[in-house]
Amino acid sequence: MEIRETKEYQELGYAVVTCPVCGRETLDSYWICEHCGWEYDGTTEETLFSAANGTTIREYRLRRQ
Ligand SMILES: [Zn+2]
Repeated sequence: MEIRETKEYQELGYAVVTCPVCGRETLDSYWICEHCGWEYDGTTEETLFSAANGTTIREYRLRRQ
């Protein structure tokens, strides 16, 4: 899926942001990253607990390996 072709981006005003886990492009406002599955909730600090994902960015990265 091309992120800029989504309805959320074109019509609903979602912004393209960099996924803090995998570094690929994703959308804000709790969009699920299509590359790694991280739900974007604004967390960018690696060791801060993300309620939406139930873990921290650091832990999530480790689990994917
Ligand atoms: Zn990602």
